[in-house]
Amino acid sequence: MGIDLGTANTLVYVSSKGIVLEEPSVVAIERKTEYPRAFGKEAKLLLGRSPENIEALRPLKDGVIADFDATEAMIHEFVKRAFEGNPLVHPRMVIGIPSGVTKLERRAVIEAATNAGAREVNLIEEPIAAAIGAGLPVTEATGNMIIDIGGGTTEIAVIALGGIVCDKSVKIAGDVFTNDIIYYMRTQHNLFVGESTAEKIKIQIGAAVEDLETPPEDMSVQGRDLLTGKPKQVEVSHREIAKALDKSIQRIEDAIMETLSQTPPELAADIYNTGIYLAGGGSMLRGLDKRISLKTDLPVYIAEDPLRAVVRGTGMALKNINRFKSILIK
Ligand code: ADP
Ligand code: MG
Repeated sequence: MGIDLGTANTLVYVSSKGIVLEEPSVVAIERKTEYPRAFGKEAKLLLGRSPENIEALRPLKDGVIADFDATEAMIHEFVKRAFEGNPLVHPRMVIGIPSGVTKLERRAVIEAATNAGAREVNLIEEPIAAAIGAGLPVTEATGNMIIDIGGGTTEIAVIALGGIVCDKSVKIAGDVFTNDIIYYMRTQHNLFVGESTAEKIKIQIGAAVEDLETPPEDMSVQGRDLLTGKPKQVEVSHREIAKALDKSIQRIEDAIMETLSQTPPELAADIYNTGIYLAGGGSMLRGLDKRISLKTDLPVYIAEDPLRAVVRGTGMALKNINRFKSILIK
């Protein structure tokens, strides 16, 4: 079993079946008893609109394990679902974790997976899993750069010989983009929108540059008027969203430039030839690949099916566990 334990989404791969589960990393907890009531999509629906007695939370929100118990309950539930409740299955697991996760947190993930029935737990750093999932030859001497833009963090890594040579993790990714949109709507349109609406805007008309070859149609957005308190609707264009996201994208660009400047020259020469690979949901922001390419003067490619690159990588590591042994953390 391969698991991508992401800050926004958890995906599970089972070697005989492929990807069997894709759920938001959200747990809804009963406040009084702290009993988990719902997981995944069902819990995400409650984010921002949960009744008083229930709290919907994201246990991994900022790329660290913010809530151990909820993380454990979530892993348990998703593993159970992946095996359709069959308690006799004790899989070997490869779990992708953000590279910023501490030793203590790693141990917590291993413990949670063991409690969920794992016979053997191997951890893999997400940038490496993403690179494997993107089809990059990570165990070769050639340097490759992968940028995984998820919900909580953007992880930039140069990989060679199966290891991370230099990397940088910044807490600017999908969640920050969503918050940028909330802020923009409030300050430019006097419109108060919630997180789910802002995320919809981002996915439907989000852009990293104002000039797009095939721009999306303007979007009608509903929310609450900050002045009158009444529900209202405004039309929003991708150009506005590009403006709203500009500063955050600049900070990602800065982190990329910094990582490039720390890359050993031989590997930099490799990257000049191989280019940069993007993965994670944030990489689907319109025009982001072009913008990074302009900034770095390098070719930029988006991994096929970028939301699933990490889980695909964990699955491939699982299938070739001997070849990838040195990469995995026990
Ligand atoms: P994580 O690995 O942290 O769980 P993911 O790689 O699953 O994150 O990406 C989730 C993020 O990608 C969310 O912030 C989501 O809003 C964003 N996202 C998903 N689809 C798109 C899209 N088409 N355009 C821009 N952002 C997107
Ligand atoms: Mg991820």
